[in-house]
Amino acid sequence: MAYLSLRGIGKIYVSQSGVAVGIRGVDLDFSLGEFVAITGKSGSGKSTLLNVISGMDSYEEGELLIEGNATSHYLEPDWEEFRERYISFIFQDYNIIESFTVLENVELALMHIEDRKERRRRALMLLERVGLSSHIRHKGSRLSGGQKQRVVIARALAKDSPILLADEPTGNLDSASAKEIVKLLYEISAEKLVIVVTHNFEQLEGYATRHVRVFDGAIERDITLGAPRNQKNESKKEQSLPKKRGKDLKNGLILGKSIFSSRPRLSVFLCFLMIIGTLSLFIVTGFCGDAFSVFEPHYMFTPIDGRVILTQQDGSPFDEKTLEALAKKHGALSVLHYDLLLDNAVSAFVPNDDWGEYFTVRITFGEEFNGSVIGRYPEKAGEVLLSVPISMQSTFGEETLLQQYIEIERTLYEVVGVHYEIDNNLTPKCLMTEEGYRHAIAIHYLKGGYGSWSSQLSVTEEKGNRHESYGGEFAVLYTLPDGMIYAKDLQDIVSNIEGAYEISYSFNVRYYQYDYATGSETEYTFSDDFSGDCFLEIAPDLSMYEAFEVYSGSHSVYLSPTLITPIVENVLADSYRQASLFFEDDARAKEAAEALCREGYRAVTSRATYTPDAFTVLSEVLSGIMTLFLWFATVAFLSFFVSLCSSRALAAFKGDMAIMRSMGISVGVIRIAMYVRMLIALIPAVITTVAVAALVYTSPAVNGIFTYLYPWQYGLIFLGMLLLVIFVTRKQIGKLFSQSVKKALKGGDTV
Ligand code: ADP
Ligand code: MG
Repeated sequence: MAYLSLRGIGKIYVSQSGVAVGIRGVDLDFSLGEFVAITGKSGSGKSTLLNVISGMDSYEEGELLIEGNATSHYLEPDWEEFRERYISFIFQDYNIIESFTVLENVELALMHIEDRKERRRRALMLLERVGLSSHIRHKGSRLSGGQKQRVVIARALAKDSPILLADEPTGNLDSASAKEIVKLLYEISAEKLVIVVTHNFEQLEGYATRHVRVFDGAIERDITLGAPRNQKNESKKEQSLPKKRGKDLKNGLILGKSIFSSRPRLSVFLCFLMIIGTLSLFIVTGFCGDAFSVFEPHYMFTPIDGRVILTQQDGSPFDEKTLEALAKKHGALSVLHYDLLLDNAVSAFVPNDDWGEYFTVRITFGEEFNGSVIGRYPEKAGEVLLSVPISMQSTFGEETLLQQYIEIERTLYEVVGVHYEIDNNLTPKCLMTEEGYRHAIAIHYLKGGYGSWSSQLSVTEEKGNRHESYGGEFAVLYTLPDGMIYAKDLQDIVSNIEGAYEISYSFNVRYYQYDYATGSETEYTFSDDFSGDCFLEIAPDLSMYEAFEVYSGSHSVYLSPTLITPIVENVLADSYRQASLFFEDDARAKEAAEALCREGYRAVTSRATYTPDAFTVLSEVLSGIMTLFLWFATVAFLSFFVSLCSSRALAAFKGDMAIMRSMGISVGVIRIAMYVRMLIALIPAVITTVAVAALVYTSPAVNGIFTYLYPWQYGLIFLGMLLLVIFVTRKQIGKLFSQSVKKALKGGDTV
């Protein structure tokens, strides 16, 4: 039985210009040990014959049998396996991977050897055999024609496959080199089937054991010149195919690394693109902060560990005694009766070089911040410590903010300390003393729109009936002594009044209370009056108000906070229906809330959630979808961008990949290698991400651009990078393998 048989093989090329016969009716039998020379005129079908035998071209007619097995039913993966197992191919135009070193080119053909050291040893041995020992580190592009052809032969030898096909291997060589190559082929072919196509039969004379002449696609002559040199048992080559998958992965890894390092400039460019892509993703992912807000709990109150919110069943206000008693009974650590500032953020203003900056703060007291504090904690009412995201450090830096004032609801506070939070999604906090907090509640009640207020300052001539009114807007001034009122520019008015005069001040608060039982709203008013002696004769220092000139009109009335607080607390005592109790932790808070409910109160912990209405849910879902859409659009755009930037570079790969495939390296391995290459290019991007993340923690400038991200957002970034790798690589693979091996080889370096 012949080792390789062609039975009536026919191959027709169909192209735009018409139909061309490649070969027709070819019947040939080959055995191992033969050294076959194929000759014929140009265009007679020699190359076609070799291509069909190698499995690189399909055939339409007849049957090709390998070791007696038919192949006409083969699909591309079968041909791949066929090539890997049986075929080594030597082309006229060398076909080495120019960007790989000589050693890498040969090792490529030794992929079937698991052990890397053994692989290296074999490659070196083969290179010695073809006389290239001194060139192993040279890139393919630096070799002469003869040297390249030797690499190809070493590679063909490395594969150690039973069939060696050579298409005009000496066509581009001078006659001396050609002779050497032929000799080399002869030496190594003792146990193989060697088929050499040539237009110059003389070169093979003395070596060839058989001469086949092709004419017009058919066999014209088939002359035996000598006996096959190998008479050994032909089934010796019957080797079982090594197990595939695990090896594919390993070879893909090695090949990917080679591909990556073989074109350093291209790889650096790719790394650069990936870094840009990743940083873009970093920024876009920063916008995705509330993409999943619909899945997050909707709290009714500001969640604070151990907090219980308490009201009476009928909605009536608590009195202090009842509250104290309840707190004691249930073991609360502290009570905050008028807790309205816990669930309301307020607007704050800080002047800066330009003009100033508004931001929202949450006012707290009794809190301790993790990490270092610049300056100190507040010690008296009117002093505050700010906890702000580190990204706001330029506005709230050590020099700019400390010893400065911050305005909250027309009250100036002295900033004595700053603390930075890494998480810039958090609302800034303004920490006060407990007394300051009580004042702030009063001020917030008046300024925060719970009712309405008005104030009136009257100056009356004692003996006459002249009367001057003054006032309107009021502001709180911490530098005033307790219980004092100061009217700016009051002298202007007083000097118009001759003789003795009397000054009085009235302050009116009007507020509305909603009755849950009846659903009606009741209006309450409260007023307080002062006279003469509470006015300062000497103007207090208002210099710090200068920065806030925009707000302090010339006719403002400034009040000491201790004057306002009792007035508002009187109002609140009659109207405020809620209180907060504080326990050690949420577990204790939950127990207490349940016990209070059993006693007939309404009590929940601050972790109590509500179900948002359908409209809210819908808008959250929609904005979530929009955000994710933006994210995916970014990934898609980046993939497109990276593909576009690297598509020219890809052209160079096309030929390399075709060579690898012609050598029998499977598409699977090349596919893995392309992914590996991309993943290696991703490493600098991953390192950059980690570095940026680290910088976000320390540098306000970076934190301002890239923002603090939650772990799931980092997950999103890495997911995005992987998607990027997959999209880009898929596209590249699609382009690389869009043509058949032969076409890609012929087409050379074009996409
Ligand atoms: P040789 O190698 O002996 O010069 P080929 O095998 O390359 O000849 O070509 C045999 C015939 O097939 C020629 O007529 C050639 O024009 C045709 N042929 C070869 N390859 C193609 C192809 N890819 N498309 C169309 N015709 C082809
Ligand atoms: Mg040819």
